[in-house]
Amino acid sequence: MKVISSAGQENIATVFLAQMPNNNIIEFLESVQPPYPREKKWVLIVSTLYGCPIKCPICDAGGFYKGKLSKDEIFKQIDFLVKRHYPDFCIPADKFKIQFARMGEPSFNMAVLDVLEELPSRYQAPGLMPCISSVAPSVSDKFFERLLDIKERYYRGKFQLQFSIHSTDEKERDFLIPVKKWSFEKIAEYGARFFKEGDRKVTLNFAPSEKSIIDVKVLKNHFDPKLFFIKITPLNPTYRAEKSRLFSYINPDLKDSKYDLIESLRGGGYEVLLSIGESAENQIGSNCGQYITQHLNKAEDQCRLADGYNCKLREYSETK
Ligand code: SF4
Repeated sequence: MKVISSAGQENIATVFLAQMPNNNIIEFLESVQPPYPREKKWVLIVSTLYGCPIKCPICDAGGFYKGKLSKDEIFKQIDFLVKRHYPDFCIPADKFKIQFARMGEPSFNMAVLDVLEELPSRYQAPGLMPCISSVAPSVSDKFFERLLDIKERYYRGKFQLQFSIHSTDEKERDFLIPVKKWSFEKIAEYGARFFKEGDRKVTLNFAPSEKSIIDVKVLKNHFDPKLFFIKITPLNPTYRAEKSRLFSYINPDLKDSKYDLIESLRGGGYEVLLSIGESAENQIGSNCGQYITQHLNKAEDQCRLADGYNCKLREYSETK
C-alpha cells in the first residue's frame, strides 16, 4: 500500500489516500475530538470495499465498485494509522474506536469479520471499540449472524452496531438506499437479539435532508427505546447529494440549534445524539461513505484537497 496524499489537521482529522498493489485507490482517516487528546478518544475510519455497489444518492463512494478489500488490506490501513502514533502497537486511548464505515457497505465483505476476530490480539488496546455501520442489505444474513457471535466472544459492552435508516417512509428509504434491505421488523428482531445486558444500544442513523420523512410513531411501532439509540448527523454535501438536490436538515455550523425532529424523537422516549463534527472535519469529509478521490479528480490540482471536500454549502436559516 502506497500512501499518495493526505489532508487535514493532526489535532482534528486527517484523511489519507492510498494506492493498493492492484492500483485501486482507497481512503481512510483518523480523528480526535477536541478538546480531548488522542489518549482520551481516537477514531479510525477504514474502507472495506473499492467503491460501493449500492450507490446511495447521498454518497460519493457509490460512484463505482471494483471489489472487496482482503483482511490484509483492511489491516494495512489500521496498521498505518496506528504506527504513526504507537509503533509498538500499544494504544493507550480510553476510547479507541475503529469504524468500518468509509468506502463500502461492510456487510458485503466477510473479511471485516476476520479483522474483528484478530483485532483484540493484534493490538494492546484496552479502549478498543469497533463500530459497524450498515444499511442492512437483505443478502447479509450470514454476515450478521457471525457478527453476533463475534460480539459475544470478544466485545461484550464494547461494540457499536449502527443501522443507517435515513427515513421511516418505505419509498423514501428505497430511494435513499437503493438495495433490497431488511425490513424494520427484521432490524428490530435482530437488534433485540444483539443487545444483551451491559452492551451498547443498537444505533439507528439518520442523515436527514430538508424533505426527509421521519415519523416517531413509526419508529415506536418497531424499535424499543430501551434497545435502540438514535443518531442524527448532518447530510454531507457530497457531489452525489448535490446532484440529487438533497440538502441537509441539520446545519453543521450551528451545534446548539434546536430541531423539531430531535425534540419529537426525545419526546418518544429515545436517547438522541446530534453528532456534528468539527468544521475542519466536515471539510475533509471524515464521515461515513464518502469518496474524496472523486473530489481530487474534479480538482484542477491536488491543492484543492487542502481547501476541503465540500461542494457548495447551502445557506441555512438559524433555526428549523
Ligand atoms: S452510504 Fe454506504 S452503502 Fe451507501 S453507497 Fe455509500 S458506502 Fe455504500
